[in-house]
Amino acid sequence: MYDVIIVGGGPAGLNAAMILGRSRRKVLVFDSGEPRNRWSDSMNGFLSSDGVKPQDFLKKGREELKKYNVKIVEKVVISATYSKGEFIVNSDDLKVYRSRKLLLATGLKDTLPELEGIEPFYGKSVHHCPYCDGWESRDKDIAVYGKDRNGIGTALGLKTWSDSVTLFTDGTDKLRQVDRDLLHRNGVEVCTDAIARLEGEGTQLQRIVLKNGTVRQQQAMFFATGTKQQSDLGNQLGCEFTNKGVIKTRRLQKSNIPGLYVAGDAARDMQLVIVAAAEGARAAVAINMELQLEDRK
Ligand SMILES: Cc1cc2nc3c(=O)[nH]c(=O)nc-3n(C[C@H](O)[C@H](O)[C@H](O)COP(=O)(O)OP(=O)(O)OC[C@H]3O[C@@H](n4cnc5c(N)ncnc54)[C@H](O)[C@@H]3O)c2cc1C
Repeated sequence: MYDVIIVGGGPAGLNAAMILGRSRRKVLVFDSGEPRNRWSDSMNGFLSSDGVKPQDFLKKGREELKKYNVKIVEKVVISATYSKGEFIVNSDDLKVYRSRKLLLATGLKDTLPELEGIEPFYGKSVHHCPYCDGWESRDKDIAVYGKDRNGIGTALGLKTWSDSVTLFTDGTDKLRQVDRDLLHRNGVEVCTDAIARLEGEGTQLQRIVLKNGTVRQQQAMFFATGTKQQSDLGNQLGCEFTNKGVIKTRRLQKSNIPGLYVAGDAARDMQLVIVAAAEGARAAVAINMELQLEDRK
């Protein structure tokens, strides 16, 4: 029986494992090796680690955990249940593990725009988060991809990083006059024509080719197409979700299920590595305090 099983070895899960390891807890971390930012070459905005490779950051984290009673298993957790005060966790090799507490740090995955040619640019010159990649895109010709009215906020926000921002609604024409006025007043150009494909050199986006044959020169793209939970475990365990599709947490990352905590992107709409790591630490302290209380004579 483990004190704590953590599902997810990204920044949230590993930071939780560190605090729990340092609290002399017996910890098992499952990780399927698909952190959300694996498409990117640099993890930006984390003090002391600004610009490091995401893989190097996680590798260093795993190294640091070696001195604690933390075991990391590279397997997928396929199901988890809660019964009579313990969690029963099944991995994809059909093994069963038990723990007193469970932390989900399973993250989110992005819904990529369905655009021909996007793959080599994703995470390099096509992004979703201005706080992660806006600085690197500063003063470039930035395209914002959002069908219907979905890209308005992102397009307006990106004016902080560049004067040249164009909103592409890709063949949809749902913008209201009031939207168009707002975008125009703030210097955002609008293109409603359908997109044929993205083109560029290596990982650098250079052009958006429209179905009408027009070519638009763009050096960066940000998209607003939403996210999904990377794992179904929150659903299986009966967690409550917000209307934004993340797991609802109470004080100190507690879910609505006793003993079940959730940290990182899976539980938050502020999705940054440093926030995920901090939430992992919060959950770990809360879990340790709960275990202390249960064991007190
Ligand atoms: C392209 C891109 C670039 C980004 N750049 C930045 C940046 O520069 N700066 C920044 O602060 N943020 C950046 N982000 C956001 C950042 O990636 C997330 O905020 C952060 O990774 C969240 O950490 P997490 O631990 O919650 O989830 P993740 O890092 O996604 O880790 C979740 C882990 O759980 C594992 N997992 C999921 N389900 C299971 C299961 N059932 N069994 C076992 N393991 C499982 C996954 O394999 C994964 O390793 C970027 C995101 C993207 C998509």
